[in-house]
Amino acid sequence: MSLIPAKEVRPRLPRGPFLIVGLARSGQAAARLLAGRGERVRAVDSGHPEGAERLSEGGVEVVLDTDGLAQLEGVHTVVKSPGVPREAPVIAAALEQGIEVTGELELAWRALPNRFLAVTGTNGKTTTVELLGHIFRGAGEPVAVAGNVGVPLAGLVGEIEADATVVAEASSFQLEDTSLFSPEGAIFLNLAPDHLDRHGDLPAYRDAKLRVFANQGNDDVAVWNGDDPELAGVDLGGCARRIEFCRGASPDCEVATAEGTIFWDGEPLLEVEELGIPGDHNVENAMAAAAAALAFGIDRDAVRAGLRSFAGVPHRLEPVAEIGGVRFVNDSKATNVASAAVGIGSFDRGVHAILGGSDKGEPFGALVAPLRERAVAAYLLGDTAARMDTELAPLVEAGVPLRRVDDLEDAVRTAAAAACPGEVVLLSPACASFDAFPNFEARGERFRQIVADLGAGGAAPDPQAAG
Ligand code: ADP
Repeated sequence: MSLIPAKEVRPRLPRGPFLIVGLARSGQAAARLLAGRGERVRAVDSGHPEGAERLSEGGVEVVLDTDGLAQLEGVHTVVKSPGVPREAPVIAAALEQGIEVTGELELAWRALPNRFLAVTGTNGKTTTVELLGHIFRGAGEPVAVAGNVGVPLAGLVGEIEADATVVAEASSFQLEDTSLFSPEGAIFLNLAPDHLDRHGDLPAYRDAKLRVFANQGNDDVAVWNGDDPELAGVDLGGCARRIEFCRGASPDCEVATAEGTIFWDGEPLLEVEELGIPGDHNVENAMAAAAAALAFGIDRDAVRAGLRSFAGVPHRLEPVAEIGGVRFVNDSKATNVASAAVGIGSFDRGVHAILGGSDKGEPFGALVAPLRERAVAAYLLGDTAARMDTELAPLVEAGVPLRRVDDLEDAVRTAAAAACPGEVVLLSPACASFDAFPNFEARGERFRQIVADLGAGGAAPDPQAAG
């Protein structure tokens, strides 16, 4: 079945003693992995993350509420969590002292003998890894998916069979800490401005993501988006066989979409309409997943069946309910402008867009065009509401009112009261959620709850009150 076997040799783990910096999910998993191998492990965090204290039961020396500088003494390797910037004092000090700094992705990859398929890109990683997992499972191929949903990668060590393919999300923050990471397959979905507060500028952000290809060899595959302007003319790096996916009938693209059909190697694979997930962006995710699955030896019928039956991932354009002919869609994971723009663009028209949240400093002007085309009204909430009001002002002249609302409940209720049958109330906020929620999942769940209350008779949408 597998056209691309797992590489036989992995570099050995770096040398201990180790200092784990940052104890969220992946830091905890890395600490457990290393302590389980008898390594000396210290673990620090500047706060008090849930579950961190319990690491001491496994022999890890845990110090919380610290900058970690004092704990660097005697350490050979620092394992930095993706949430910790390279400029953090403890990381800067480690680098200055010549201490190796690595990350959980690199560690887990070295510790797992499995073949790897890594997925990076600004948007669509979770959707694509879950879609790949679904295709593999449907084909009867053992697979383990690691990413934002479910287990961190290091948690798979010792838990999965050696013949399983590991499909892993790889964010720029994880990739920046890799050194020898060399997955058998890698996908680069797209690049749009995001996380520039950490990476500085777009080229630096792109370079962090390109590390996914950097160490690949001739037997590996590198799947990339030929339509992405940020990748045009860029040296992808590494030595892997390139597989380009794109729209249109370019002869360079092994997987392409033309006239409503996805083609593989010039042969029709599937009608776009048959895809189980909506929106043009998901056509790209589907092309990328198909390209990688086919290269990894999944047969064409199984790929087709998987693309048809995949129902999507929660909080990503997730249909929540239809009440009085009005659809309610939860796209809470749209935490940047690019993903909200595609979310809004996934509907022909009639969108009541709920926007706003915590401020990452990203300009909102790119939302004007999709909202002008598809939206009936926009409802602005959270820390960014005032800035959105100013930056989206051209919409008002175009007949799309901007309404300031108090909170998510006010937004949903106001939008529901204004929406006509056939229209959509869409939470696709273009912002992170931290001003009002612990994370995007909590925001999406609150949205579902508010909609459920509406459906239970809270305030049925009034088709006469369109605005
Ligand atoms: P990630 O894991 O990269 O954050 P997700 O699959 O969780 O990506 O999707 C995040 C958001 O981006 C969702 O709102 C989704 O609608 C949007 N999105 C998904 N795929 C793409 C894509 N290929 N291009 C642009 N936006 C996308």
